[in-house]
Amino acid sequence: SISRSRSEQLYKEALEHIVGGVNSPSRSFKAVGGGAPVFMKRAQGAYFWDEDGNKYIDYLAAYGPIITGHAHPHVTQAIVEAAQDGTLYGTPTEHEIVFARMLKEAIPSLDKVRFVNSGTEAVMTTIRVARAYTGRSKIVKFAGCYHGHSDLVLVAAGSGPSTLGVPDSAGVPGSIAQEVITVPFNDIPALEEALDRWGGDVAAVMVEPIVGNFGMVLPKPGFLEALCRLARGIGALVIYDEVITAFRFHYGSAQTYAGLPLAAVEPGATTSARFAAVEPDLTALGKIIGGGLPIGAYGGRREIMEQVAPLGPAYQAGTMAGNPASIRAGIACLQVLRQEGVYAGLERLAARLADGLAASAARHGVPLTVNRIGGAFSTHFCSHPVTNYDEAQAADGEVFAKFFRLMLDRGICLAPSKYEAWFLTLAHTDDDVSETLEAADQALRSL
Ligand code: PMP
Repeated sequence: SISRSRSEQLYKEALEHIVGGVNSPSRSFKAVGGGAPVFMKRAQGAYFWDEDGNKYIDYLAAYGPIITGHAHPHVTQAIVEAAQDGTLYGTPTEHEIVFARMLKEAIPSLDKVRFVNSGTEAVMTTIRVARAYTGRSKIVKFAGCYHGHSDLVLVAAGSGPSTLGVPDSAGVPGSIAQEVITVPFNDIPALEEALDRWGGDVAAVMVEPIVGNFGMVLPKPGFLEALCRLARGIGALVIYDEVITAFRFHYGSAQTYAGLPLAAVEPGATTSARFAAVEPDLTALGKIIGGGLPIGAYGGRREIMEQVAPLGPAYQAGTMAGNPASIRAGIACLQVLRQEGVYAGLERLAARLADGLAASAARHGVPLTVNRIGGAFSTHFCSHPVTNYDEAQAADGEVFAKFFRLMLDRGICLAPSKYEAWFLTLAHTDDDVSETLEAADQALRSL
């Protein structure tokens, strides 16, 4: 296998100074058998080069944001220009208006937005705003959905769908976990049970409308409509966490994606009729909208957003929020994404790769469930479908760990987690897909 001695050396050094050697636990190789993660030195287009000079095809895409490919010239140009004009002002700029308009045009449920610095902040603030607006305190969320690392969303399910949560991290007080009810995704009766029990206390039901955090998982037809109807029936708000899904599948977000399975509406219906039943009150954004720089945003219905300071009583602020570098990179990224044919190209390559992987696994008798949505897909080593977190958890982590390392040694970089998706970028080519399929065929054969 190829040498990664310099990564190993750097990992030893990093362990001395940085907790766990990494600045986000998802980057550690703990879930794939441990050892040194690969220290990357440079990225261009669809490729990484590590500190030992090895080249990789990248399907991590930095956990989603890098949809244009690394160092896309248009985005890079925007960042260079922003740097030359000064990166941080602490004043409003016109760029923020331009960008807010672009987001509103693409995602019609956003009457007003606010920019923050990460998906975590965006989600955290939607919860505060929902609580301020409704005067209630509890949140209902879904097992396996990840919403960042703030206290209220690091809470696991209690012992049944209508029971209060338990901390999912040390340092989250039990009293905070008691504000959260976690139910299985795609399970309408469980949601009904939870809302029956806690209805008058629930400020919001929060969901990834298309799940990106335990694989790529679509809502079952009718699930999102039921979620919105049930939430509104008890006077709670609906929050969509679209940190992964916005601008992932089309120029817009999951809430207006033509591939979103809806039960009640004809596929040919107008967009507004088709999606009215699943429109959220608040939406959290991040990842892609920063073009590779740190960003988050949240927005939604005018009267709800007007709860936020300085107009309203719900406080939220940020020294770095709306900084010109992130905003200008985000504008540039969306300018690239709104060009004709971008998403069709991503989808075509992803379909070729996902179908090829499934065929290869079948040839070698390796159980593999591939969930593909547009240009992203997940690979679970199991023979059952993956429609909720329990099913994703039941996939074989040890087989995934072996596959991950076999692929890495063949120059293919995946996320070191059995739950993470593969992301295609505008920089990936048919040759990259062919090379990846060849590597995967060898890896699957030797499993
Ligand atoms: N929500 C979702 C759906 C996410 O996938 C993530 C990050 N993976 C977050 C929120 C948190 O975003 P960030 O890491 O930018 O804080």
